[in-house]
Amino acid sequence: MLLEASGVNVVYQPGRGERIWAVRDVDLSLREGEFVGIVGESGCGKSTLGFALTQMLRPPAVLDSGMIAFRGTDITSLKGDELRRQRRRGFALVLQSGMNALNPVRSIERHIGDLLKAHPLPGEHWSGEAIRSRGRELMSMVELDASVLSRFPHELSGGMRQRAAIALALALEPELIVFDEPTTALDVIVQAALMDMIKGLQRSRGFTAVLISHDMSVVLDATDRTIVMYAGRIVEDRRSVDMVPDRIHHPYTEALFGCYADPRADEVVLLDIPGTPPDLSLADHDCSFAPRCTLAIDICLRERPRLCDVGGGRVACHLYPDARGEVG
Ligand code: SF4
Ligand code: MG
Repeated sequence: MLLEASGVNVVYQPGRGERIWAVRDVDLSLREGEFVGIVGESGCGKSTLGFALTQMLRPPAVLDSGMIAFRGTDITSLKGDELRRQRRRGFALVLQSGMNALNPVRSIERHIGDLLKAHPLPGEHWSGEAIRSRGRELMSMVELDASVLSRFPHELSGGMRQRAAIALALALEPELIVFDEPTTALDVIVQAALMDMIKGLQRSRGFTAVLISHDMSVVLDATDRTIVMYAGRIVEDRRSVDMVPDRIHHPYTEALFGCYADPRADEVVLLDIPGTPPDLSLADHDCSFAPRCTLAIDICLRERPRLCDVGGGRVACHLYPDARGEVG
């Protein structure tokens, strides 16, 4: 297993006494070379989980409890040089807007050079020419012209900036790359081209990828496995090819199916899920989706369902008998 997370809880502490449970009791394993999608509404904890998996949580978000093992090493306790060493060839995060990842007063080549020099392998020395040559390789991987190396972030379009940010993520050849809404804020044509590139890179370079998105169609199209999150918890986890309406699913997943436009359908009807997600500052002793669930039964208001094996995947819902019983 490349990465194993168990019992992960992430809390935001925005002010004195305030605690918002953004990620709750997440258990998750990533196999080598797997492409996993995490989908859910905004605020469901998917980005926060992505930050936790790559050790990028920053205050006011803190890992409250849980273990995250990368190739068997618990990375939650690593700091400073140890964490930097693990990150070299370990994991990278690509954020929504390439601009955030890029320093406006540095050229793309300078970004690449700084990164390579900050994480040298033993005996490695990065001369100007070696950096330029690696830069050219990286530009070709992300289908950008080598002339982009000498340009500054503001001189690039949104799509080009995002490609440059992906080139930076690839620079250290990480085994895991987490993409957090990589195509949001780009127009539809640019989005599609960027997703095709990400899929191609993942296949050709063989890294493990996590794609975080609110868009079910993007996730189903790109990934091998889909994880659905609601109110900080994983509510469903199964192979993306099995994520089709009318099979066994969590009621929230079923509702998400109604919210995206299947490009294969002749007629597209987009539904909204009525109601709003719960207040994450409160403990959940019940099913968090119950107020919005058309299938809720008595027990849903009394007990939180367990994530258990259902129909070849994992589902947390009282409609399936194994979900009842002791809740961890
Ligand atoms: Fe709906 Fe109950 Fe299942 Fe929650 S546990 S999704 S309320 S049926
Ligand atoms: Mg987000």
